[in-house]
Amino acid sequence: MKGKKTSYAFKAGIAFIGKSGVILRLAYDLHIHTALSPCADNDMTPNNIVNMSILKGLDVIAITDHNSCANVEACTAAAADKQLLVIPGMEVETAEEIHVICLFPDFGKAMEMQNWIYSRLPAYKNNEGVFGSQLIMDWQDNIIRKEDRLLLVSATITINEVFRIVNQQLKGLAVPAHIDRQANSLISSFGVIPEDIDISCVEIRNRSREALLEEHHPKLKNINKIYSSDAHYLGNISERQNFVEVDEINAEGVLRALSVYRED
Ligand SMILES: [Zn+2]
Ligand SMILES: [Zn+2]
Repeated sequence: MKGKKTSYAFKAGIAFIGKSGVILRLAYDLHIHTALSPCADNDMTPNNIVNMSILKGLDVIAITDHNSCANVEACTAAAADKQLLVIPGMEVETAEEIHVICLFPDFGKAMEMQNWIYSRLPAYKNNEGVFGSQLIMDWQDNIIRKEDRLLLVSATITINEVFRIVNQQLKGLAVPAHIDRQANSLISSFGVIPEDIDISCVEIRNRSREALLEEHHPKLKNINKIYSSDAHYLGNISERQNFVEVDEINAEGVLRALSVYRED
């Protein structure tokens, strides 16, 4: 499935004319869970997410369930005739218990990553009563089946491996998630921004902590920051408040914009 081209007018305003052509500002939320994540509300269906994102005024979203891409295709199909770009994604939990948002240029690459991750997940069964249900849906919000394997666990894959597979092999973008959180984050696990991982973008949950984070970790100054909702409930999807400047309205364009290192 190729990324959606500019076949219709997005709400995105033209920001300025860059060397490569017209640059567009897209309102984004690149961290949204569906009802496949056991911790997410069952109302997080493909159509509910797409329609709420449009109501909120977003131009681009990413579907990022824990260790799975099984609802990405349905969400993409639900948005097919809408003014909303859906980027295939997944929130991987690494062996170090670090959450990493993985974004892909197309659905095929996302499924390749899903195969990698499924081969590295421990074979624990989901206990719906304890963790919640893991619903796989079609583009009309019908439940096709439930994922039996518990998704909310660490895969036996290191963060270095995730970056190598996603960034190099699959031409996607790995983004350490909610680095300012006290659990399941790069900084809570390592205490530093590691030198041996090629990080071009991080996600910060609370924007007001950004200056302090940069003070403690100066390397962050040259790294793109994104501020996504990590929505598990419809009402938590971001408002039209965070923007990425792209030269092409498709997944590749967004990934390219977030892969570029910033200069001081
Ligand atoms: Zn997370
Ligand atoms: Zn999340």
